[in-house]
Order: sequence, then C-alpha cells, then structure tokens
Amino acid sequence: MSFRGDSYDQALVRAAHHARAWLDSVAERPVGPSATAAELLAGFNGPLPDGPTPPEDVVDLLATLSAPGLMAIQSGRFFGWVMGGTLPAALAADWLVSAWDQNTGMRYATPATATAEEAAAGWLLDLLGLPSGADVGFVTGATMANFTCLGAARTAVLSRLGWDVARDGLGGAPRVRVLAGEERHDTVDLALRYLGLGSPALVAADEQGRIRVDALTESLNAVDSGTPVVVCLQAGNVHSGAFDPLEAAVEIARQHGAWVHVDGAFGLWAAAAPSLRHLVAGAAGADSWGTDAHKTLNVPYDCGIAIVADPVAMRSTFGAHASYLISDDPGPGDPLEKVPEFSRRARGVPVWAALRSLGRSGVAELVERLAGHAREMAEGIAGIDGARVVNDVVYTQVCVDFGDDARTRAVTARLIADGTVWMSGSRWRDRDVLRISVSNWSTDADDVRRSVDAVRRASADASI
Ligand SMILES: *Cc1c(COP(=O)(O)O)cnc(C)c1O
Repeated sequence: MSFRGDSYDQALVRAAHHARAWLDSVAERPVGPSATAAELLAGFNGPLPDGPTPPEDVVDLLATLSAPGLMAIQSGRFFGWVMGGTLPAALAADWLVSAWDQNTGMRYATPATATAEEAAAGWLLDLLGLPSGADVGFVTGATMANFTCLGAARTAVLSRLGWDVARDGLGGAPRVRVLAGEERHDTVDLALRYLGLGSPALVAADEQGRIRVDALTESLNAVDSGTPVVVCLQAGNVHSGAFDPLEAAVEIARQHGAWVHVDGAFGLWAAAAPSLRHLVAGAAGADSWGTDAHKTLNVPYDCGIAIVADPVAMRSTFGAHASYLISDDPGPGDPLEKVPEFSRRARGVPVWAALRSLGRSGVAELVERLAGHAREMAEGIAGIDGARVVNDVVYTQVCVDFGDDARTRAVTARLIADGTVWMSGSRWRDRDVLRISVSNWSTDADDVRRSVDAVRRASADASI
C-alpha cells in the first residue's frame, strides 16, 4: 500500500464530526460518565477481529462505544481534581501535531515543531517571571516535570561534591538529603522514588498547608555541612491553593547551599496575573520549577513543563552525550537534551498555539478569571446552611465541609449523582472535604451560579 493523503479523508471527517458532537453535548450533558469501566469492557473487548476494518468504521465504533464512559472534563461545571479544559487553538494545534507526526527530539530533523516549542518556552519564561536563560523541557505532566527537574538537581548537588552520577550512579554516592513540606504533592515523592532518592524528610506545614519557614530552618540546621541538599517547595496546594512562603524559604535554603525546586503545577501561573503575582514572589530565585500546561493553561493532555535555571545541570542529566562535553554557552540545544524521552510528540506546539491565541493579557485574564470564580463559588457556598469553607481562598481551590465526615461524603455523593457539576471528595487535615478546583477556561458566572445551586440542593437532600 502506498501513502495517499486522501486515504485519511473518511476517518478524519468522521473524527471531526464526532468531536463536534461531543463538544456540542458538553454544555448540557451530565458532567459525569453514565457507565463504569466494567460496563464498558464488553464493548471494547471481544476477540481481535481476524481481518481489517475500514478506518472510518473504527472511528464510528470508537465514538459509539466511548460516549457513555466520557467525563465532561471540558465542561465549565467540571471542578474535579485540578484539571483544565482545552482552548480551541490548543485543540486544533494538537490535531495538527498528530497529522504532522513530527518526532520532536532534534532541531535539524523537525525544525518547525522544535522552533515552535522554543518560542513557547521563551514566552513561558517571560510570563512566569523566570530567568530567560533557563532550559525548558516539554514532558507529559507535572509528575514528569518534577522528575526531570529533580534529576537535574541530583546531578548538580552531587557534582558539587565531585561525584559524577551519570558515570558512577548512586551506589557509594553521598546521600542526598531531600526536604519537602508535609503537604507537598504526592507526585514529588514519586519523582524522588524514580530517581533513587527515597522518601523526602518532611517539614511541618501551617493550617493552610504552607511549609513553615521556622521548621525548614530547623531542618536545614540539623543537616551536616557538606551534605548535598534539595529543598522542594510548592506553589499551589491542591486543597487550599496556598503557596509556600517562597521568598523566605528560597532564601534560607540558598543560605544552606541547597538546590531549590518549586512544584508549581497549577500555582506557578499566578505569576502571569498582575493581581495574583504576589503569591509567587521569590519563586524566580529557585533552581528549578515544574508546572503543567494541561491544567491552568488549558491545553490537551499530556503536557507538563520542566524548567531548570542551569542548562548544564539539565543537559548533563538528559540527552545522549558525555556530561563533560557541555559548553558554557549551550545555545538552544536539542529538545531531547531537556527531557527524559528520546522520541516524543511535539506537545509544546499546543502550548505555542494557546499562548499565541491568548496573548499576554489573555493569559492574565484567564488566571484571574479562574481565581475570581473560585472566590464567587466560595462566597455562594458559604451562604448555604451547614456548609463551611475551610480554606483561605487565595487562588483556584475551595474546600468545604458539611458538618461531619459522613454528611460531607453524603453531600459529595448526591452532588455527583445529580450530574450538574462534578467535584471531588477528598480528605484534608483530618477531615473529609468537598474539593473544588476552578481550572477550566470556559467556566462562567452562570456555571458558578448553577454549581452553587447544585451544592445547595445536594446539601438539603443530605439533611433528610
Ligand atoms: C497535578 C499536580 C501534580 C501532578 O501533575 P500531573 O500533570 O498529573 O503529572 C503535581 N503537583 C501538583 C501541585 C499538582 O497539582
């Protein structure tokens, strides 16, 4: 069979049709899926057909089988976990990324997508207020962004002691001490585990989940001098939305010679909004930052961003070359020198498209709108009998309890069954909570009003 562009026509037309039907349904369909994974299995499963099926029939079948099992994460009334929707320019760019099929590892091989990513990287550093010479790697999500940044950290803190981890590994290496706030995201632990650094030593947090600088100071003072140290800070707690006191924490960690990493999966974006920028003051003084584009920026999954101030640390950890061959002035470098993968899709291209379509003011307005709707949601819910907002709503996250744990769980279950909204149940600071994350670009005032009404209904029903 030879390549013919028109052999894609039928399948792409069908896919566009199904995509439109899905997007048209999002505004009014129940937000949650109507079938469970177990119920969907029979449709997808079954014996592998003996022979081929026309591509357009496969696309139709996929759409039909999937429909009952799709979560409307795109809905303006989806507030689960911390998940954004998808901006039109980003979705369309993502389609092109698939059609182009560019394996974006090397600049000379795929110059268009590599350059679009470089441009997006420059815009990101500017918007997030980070050093313009930093290396930016496009990875699958914040988990891998944390992994990538902490990989560079591991290289750097060991190399300062004369240990070449790329050549000699971790066996016999000085033990790297990693400190993280009690309420760090679990994926920081995952990243450290993947890197062979074990679990972090935990530093006490305050009632909003922010690392306590006095406790951090104490922990740092207790570390023997000459020990390689990494401090993991957080911009945006998944429950409260709170930000670690970055200015003071970065300064004290620096005084102790630590590498400072900031997990800012959704919080780092506060830097792009003038009215919220104070929340990340001091972040730029860190060594590395992990964030997501598939949350606050609203590009399709999978898209995280690993940012490392020192390109030498980044490129001697990733990429296939000897660590000693790095020049002091590395230039833009190949994409594969800044991420763990060799082959990968051009996932930075939808970031370029999102930023190009929003512009500086659009990004600022997006982040401010999310935080503004979170405040309105909190005010509305605080007016419901028996509901209590339990965090300081400083950003996009709202946590609510409804008296006791059993009642909070009952309200959450009724809310999800009602289908008007989708919000996560969680446990925070020893109590069950209903957790709301306003992360979707399309949430508007009407969504907020309908969502507060849905919470009121669920709360009234759960009282009976
Ligand atoms: C979502 C999140 C992560 C993990 O990000 P993924 O994109 O799911 O890998 C890490 N840290 C924080 C603070 C998060 O909110």
